[in-house]
Amino acid sequence: MLLQMVDVKSQYVKIKEEVDRGIHEVLDTTIFIGGPKVKKFQEELEVYLGVKHVIPCANGTDAIQIALMGLGLRPGDEVIVPAFTYVATAEVIALLGLIPVMVDVDADSFNVSVEGIKKAITPRTKAIVPVHLYGQSAEMEAIMNIAQKHNIFVVEDNAQAIGADYLFSNGGKKKSGTIGHIGCTSFYPSKNLGCYGDGGAIMTNDDNLAFLLQKIANHGQSVRYYHDVVGVNSRLDAIQAVVLSAKLKHLDEYNLARQKVADYYDAAFAGHAEILTPLRSSFSTHVFHQYTLRIKNGKRDSLKDFLDDNKIPNMIYYPVPLYKQEAFKATSNGMEYLENTELLCKEVISLPIHTEMDPTQLDYIINVVKTFFK
Ligand SMILES: *Cc1c(COP(=O)(O)O)cnc(C)c1O
Repeated sequence: MLLQMVDVKSQYVKIKEEVDRGIHEVLDTTIFIGGPKVKKFQEELEVYLGVKHVIPCANGTDAIQIALMGLGLRPGDEVIVPAFTYVATAEVIALLGLIPVMVDVDADSFNVSVEGIKKAITPRTKAIVPVHLYGQSAEMEAIMNIAQKHNIFVVEDNAQAIGADYLFSNGGKKKSGTIGHIGCTSFYPSKNLGCYGDGGAIMTNDDNLAFLLQKIANHGQSVRYYHDVVGVNSRLDAIQAVVLSAKLKHLDEYNLARQKVADYYDAAFAGHAEILTPLRSSFSTHVFHQYTLRIKNGKRDSLKDFLDDNKIPNMIYYPVPLYKQEAFKATSNGMEYLENTELLCKEVISLPIHTEMDPTQLDYIINVVKTFFK
């Protein structure tokens, strides 16, 4: 049985005709960067997300970097970020000479702790970068309230949660990534909306910020060869835009397929003494970029070995708190121990989840996991 963490190939086969035709059109016109295909996808994503501006760029890491460059921060300014996330989130903060202030996450949602954010705010705090980890939004309503009170920016790292809906206490609804001042996402092939190379995008409802971010992504120019600010070179290829346009039409259906896989796993592991299934928040739908279990009683690593021996793909996202990474020793503000972050690094394990999984594959995986605990 072919088991994979993600199955990009089987998904491609189903949309092959449209993707291949679009790619050939790009080859025929030789408009490889920018141009009408990129513009088309940009507008489609604006409509899908219900956001005023989408600025396509080269990858998700660039998206976060460009977002932070647009906020007028100064070296030494503090940016709050969860300690339990992919490195990209904190990396660009450090790269810009800003201080990543790493805070703890909630053990049940895996997302940044609102209490942790409150405790970390100082007069030098200029921004918060919540990460919607594994496909579920962080507590954006509370985070926006804190940000407003302290006059700080919020940049959402939505690389893992594109398509998730956030539900506000007044009944309102917004797509994750469109709630903060700026949202960022990645189109890395394995993401919920992935292209066939690198890609990313920045989202905002603010006209002035959109103009500035677009300029920064294009060498700081809005008129060619007149550079107002120091920028970067970060663009989306037309070939990637074609793939993304084809897949965006199916995104809700893809996310639904992921939710079904998660439901299947949840039912199989429900009530297990040593397995904690992922929490579903009341305020966010979950698009299950990852299906991540917590394994109790120190058994995570031996379960991993057992799955490896039985050829069940699995991953530990993430094994090391960011503040313990060699790269952040100098900038992580002397932070040494965050309880939930440490716990999750020892307990989490992610199982295969993608749009093409069938019950036979799921039963096989579930059976091996259960056998380990017998
Ligand atoms: C994938 C990812 C990124 C970076 O995206 P790239 O396109 O690989 O640069 C950033 N943050 C999170 C949480 C991610 O999962």
